[in-house]
Amino acid sequence: MKTSCSIIQDLLPLYKEGLASKESVIIVDQHLTCCPDCQLFVNQMNETAIPNDPEVTTFKQVALTVQKRKRQLMLCSFLFAITLFVVVFYHLNKPRFLPYTEELITVEQVADELVVAELNSAVTNFEITWSNNNAHITTWNTMLAPKRTDDSNQIILLSHPDQSVEQVYYVEPNEGSDLLLYSQQRTDDFEGVMTLPRLALSYYVIIAGIMAFTCFVVSGLTGHNMVRTLSKKLSLLATCYVVAHLVIKGVSPTTYVLIRDFGYILVVAVTLFVSTSIWLEGRKLIAN
Ligand SMILES: [Zn+2]
Repeated sequence: MKTSCSIIQDLLPLYKEGLASKESVIIVDQHLTCCPDCQLFVNQMNETAIPNDPEVTTFKQVALTVQKRKRQLMLCSFLFAITLFVVVFYHLNKPRFLPYTEELITVEQVADELVVAELNSAVTNFEITWSNNNAHITTWNTMLAPKRTDDSNQIILLSHPDQSVEQVYYVEPNEGSDLLLYSQQRTDDFEGVMTLPRLALSYYVIIAGIMAFTCFVVSGLTGHNMVRTLSKKLSLLATCYVVAHLVIKGVSPTTYVLIRDFGYILVVAVTLFVSTSIWLEGRKLIAN
């Protein structure tokens, strides 16, 4: 039995472009060896085909470029959406440190060596750090969780692994010195204790700024192609870091939660860098 000529002729364009499946190729080959009609059809096809029309080639190239550009833009938008999501997420979950009020926190000794703190429902998170036998309490909530859901007070035991609690301070990150809430010794002349913010982030952003500027100048001055490409990339990366610092920290140079802030800044800087790089590459593509 012969495969119907019309089927073969339908398959021929795919066959010629090398896009037909293996099975189709075998069938077409077999058919062509024994069907003069289809052989003639192939010859006609070859004659009428436009051999490498430069306009067609250019058109194909443009179509490919547009398609590539489309993919790049989609990837860019996706990365940019991630960046935006991270920034919003950061601000929704940013610690809002609570100023001291009498209702917010009370500390008392309930038995020998047993000191407890009672926090009201505005406190969703707290941290206790120890210096010798002194406890320093920081409390905060976030925009997403402005208060505890069960609305009740929270009792925390202030215990120290080795010795009894001597003093308990309340840390107000945005105020001056820490407040003394409880002391074992009955004396009034306590030294003020300061909890200092971390300044590391401001050094990083200054370094990034200097690097962005220096690399930008180098890329403009150098005649070396590889050096120019590399310094342009570095300049972009450093600029992205500065932008990330601004959207996360604003103009505030200090932080009380260094690791958290730095982590967010890095994630935003990297996603921003990758999406901008892709976007710039795409612009070059169109220009060519
Ligand atoms: Zn045929």
